[in-house]
Amino acid sequence: QLRLRSALALVTGAGSGIGRAVSVRLAREGATVAACDLDRAAACETVWLLGGQGSEEVAPGGTHAAFQADVSEAGSVRRLLEQVQACFSRPPSVVVSCAGITRDEVLLRMSEDDWDKVIAVNLKLPCYSPHQGIFLVTQAAAQALVSSGCHGSIINISSIVGKVGNMGQTNYAASKAGVIGLTQTAARELGRHGIRCNSVLPGFITTPMTQKVPQKVLDKVIGIIPMGHMGDPEDVADVVAFLASEDSGYITGASVEVTGGLFM
Ligand code: NAD
Repeated sequence: QLRLRSALALVTGAGSGIGRAVSVRLAREGATVAACDLDRAAACETVWLLGGQGSEEVAPGGTHAAFQADVSEAGSVRRLLEQVQACFSRPPSVVVSCAGITRDEVLLRMSEDDWDKVIAVNLKLPCYSPHQGIFLVTQAAAQALVSSGCHGSIINISSIVGKVGNMGQTNYAASKAGVIGLTQTAARELGRHGIRCNSVLPGFITTPMTQKVPQKVLDKVIGIIPMGHMGDPEDVADVVAFLASEDSGYITGASVEVTGGLFM
């Protein structure tokens, strides 16, 4: 059963890891995917994957498209929404913000630049502009949906670290905690417009982002995960597909953990 047959899904950070797996999963459910990434070639590669071409990986017949955008720049996100609407003649009804970065350092040595960069991409950076990161994508997508009278589902990728913190990640944890608060508030404000907003809190997932973590650290984490292993990007994508679909039609403001039981 194709649960997202008539959906247009905008996925940021679609060129890698969780964003790519989400793009593949939503396409399999029948959605048309607008795959956005800072890295144009990576976004194009994801769309090429969605094309299928005989691959069993992806649902055939889609007319997916790739877009280059920097979610930490207001003008870039505005152009992205305009381009997506021009390309498909409607606003995206499913918006999944996966773009995110880390710049790890312990609090005692964290530079202001590393703090600012992570907050800018993962959330927003007030001292540069009131319109950046997940805030900007959520706001721009919601404005497009409300003004066209369409219902929708907005899914923001936070992290379990936003709930419990993590050594060396004051900047990242603050940004991800902010994503939860932003998403819950958006859910309160947009529910009456038929727009649901939920965040997903992955634990430790095997992607290029966690490939940077030393194996010694990963082994320690795996040791305390009740399910005994790291998650795959597809584990997160499955939950995103549920939140995007009408199967979750009465769920909004939720923060869904996909952690294998870590920090329950
Ligand atoms: P990843 O590094 O594999 O992918 C991130 C993608 O975001 C990349 O393709 C990158 O080019 C893109 N990106 C970075 N900055 C951008 C910008 N300014 N504008 C547009 N695109 C940009 O990482 P991932 O592991 O797939 O992470 C995806 C999301 O999941 C992130 O928000 C991350 O914080 C979150 N997350 C990941 C894990 C994990 O264990 N991997 C755990 C919890 C949360």
